[in-house]
Amino acid sequence: MPNCPMCQSEYTYEDRGLFVCPECGHEWSENEVVEVGLVVKDSNGNQLQDGDSVSVIKDLKVKGASGAIKQGTKVKNIRLVEGDHNIDCKVDGFGPMKLKSEFVKKL
Ligand SMILES: [Zn+2]
Repeated sequence: MPNCPMCQSEYTYEDRGLFVCPECGHEWSENEVVEVGLVVKDSNGNQLQDGDSVSVIKDLKVKGASGAIKQGTKVKNIRLVEGDHNIDCKVDGFGPMKLKSEFVKKL
């Protein structure tokens, strides 16, 4: 049993899917997980946010495209997503694209 998040009591029990604390009367659900926002950092370790503009720090080959995204290409209005390629964005001349945050820097 987890300790009570309100008073840290260890005498909590489970009742119909809820945890109950007999000491302070607090009830909470196991699924009540605090949402931790996605933390995505650029090549310099700066935290990125949805809507940021970034610039590409090295030429990136694009599958299916004839050219690469050139170093210095600016990408506006990024969206952070989970995964290996954690930036969802639109690159001029390439269209919708997913980039790795380690290959960009915040502008
Ligand atoms: Zn309590």
